Amino acid sequence: MADHEVDLFVIGAGSGGVRAARIASSYGASVTIAEEYRVGGTCVIRGCVPKKLLVYAARFSGDFEDAAGYGWNVPAATFHWPTLIANKDREIARLEAAYTATLERFKVKLIKSRAMLEDAHTVRLSSGERVRAKTILIATGARPYHGAQIAGLDHVISSNEAFHLAQLPKRVLIQGGGYIAVEFAGIFAGLGSRVTLVYRGENILRGFDDDVREHLRGEMQRRGIKIITKQTVAAVEKVDRGYDVALSDNRQIMADLVMFATGRHPNVTGFGLEAAGVKLAANGGIAVDSYSRTSVPNIYAVGDVTNRINLTPVAVREGHAFADTVFGGKPTEVDHSNVPTAVFSEPELGVVGLTEAQARERLTKVDIYKTSFRPMKATLSGRDTRVFMKLVVDGSTDRVAGCHIIGPDAGELIQLVGVAVKMGATKADFDATMAVHPTAAEELVTMREKAASYSQAAAE
Ligand code: NDP
Repeated sequence: MADHEVDLFVIGAGSGGVRAARIASSYGASVTIAEEYRVGGTCVIRGCVPKKLLVYAARFSGDFEDAAGYGWNVPAATFHWPTLIANKDREIARLEAAYTATLERFKVKLIKSRAMLEDAHTVRLSSGERVRAKTILIATGARPYHGAQIAGLDHVISSNEAFHLAQLPKRVLIQGGGYIAVEFAGIFAGLGSRVTLVYRGENILRGFDDDVREHLRGEMQRRGIKIITKQTVAAVEKVDRGYDVALSDNRQIMADLVMFATGRHPNVTGFGLEAAGVKLAANGGIAVDSYSRTSVPNIYAVGDVTNRINLTPVAVREGHAFADTVFGGKPTEVDHSNVPTAVFSEPELGVVGLTEAQARERLTKVDIYKTSFRPMKATLSGRDTRVFMKLVVDGSTDRVAGCHIIGPDAGELIQLVGVAVKMGATKADFDATMAVHPTAAEELVTMREKAASYSQAAAE
């Protein structure tokens, strides 16, 4: 027997779960949401938000250096990690309280507890209380995955712990070549740590455009980050002064902090998915259809637990679409195409649409435009850095199929380019747009010469 009944029970109060809960409630549904950790989920508590605050902190060192060329005499700056962490923690607590208040305002009942599915309609809380729900939404997110078992793995931290270090490590070794590895490499380097990044493949950021990967690697190296490719961490040993890290080629590197950013796995175990009959997809996430419905008709799943595109705005959109579909009488599918994304590396990377390689695979005719230039600010600062921009154009329709930017504010730029690409803007539309001068972004509308042109016929 259930202790009470609701229209919707949401498991997980992260970005996707919270959005779904409040929209469903606004349609008149009775909603309960269970969260075993902190309200806000990965993005707010130990992801996007605290990460961006650390990125801001890290960039000041470059700004202080750059200021000299503009006439500023900046006395040797010092940095105090505990201040940054305490201020960041205060901001995260404020945001968590704001999320909680939003749930209250929308009359969503929040239960701070782990939730277990007993069957397709029954959820048991850690208090033993049972809730019967007409619809259940799983929004349990994902968690860091450390890869193969190696000696000394218990000395290794993930990004979760990186946000709470007692002090800034002098020497940091990061394994991984994806978003988190690249972002934290920039954070620690900017704050003054000596950073080594170890990646198993040929080049960092697999899946991104090859020119982008090459350019960003060069920029990171110029900022003092040591990048070792085609190697993995084989063992980590605690020694007197830090950690002795052995790589697969037997090289040894000393570090004060070893962090792995080797991907994240969907949280699909330990809360009764099998009991409810929910099936998983081949990629380890919960299998869902285009309305986020699982193999059990009254159970839905959104966000990282479905392992589709693991980005906060995507989870939010999926949660909103779920609520519209199930409680708002507006069946809504989420369009997962042309999702713009940014990597908050130093310098920043912004991307939307196809890479050159993807375009050459999928389109019959492809035109490539690209440029690399010294940003104006670097002329007086003397900083050795270059901005990179690339447009991938469908040669048959003239539509811009992809845009790739490395440079200051690339994340901000790609948000707007994303609108144009989503609308189907052509290269001619870009060309017809008047430049804003002097900006870096004006290059996006002034690239006239093709860097390359491919057609199926030519490739054969
Ligand atoms: P990613 O999947 O982006 O990168 C994982 C990296 O670890 C890859 O370079 C991968 O190599 C490597 N790797 C995987 N397994 C092993 C292993 N066993 N040994 C050695 N290396 C390994 O995951 P992240 O952890 O960086 O981030 C998780 C997700 O979170 C991202 O994909 C993204 O969706 C999201 N995110 C988004 C951010 C943003 O929007 N700015 C910021 C941070 C995270 P290989 O390439 O060879 O597979």
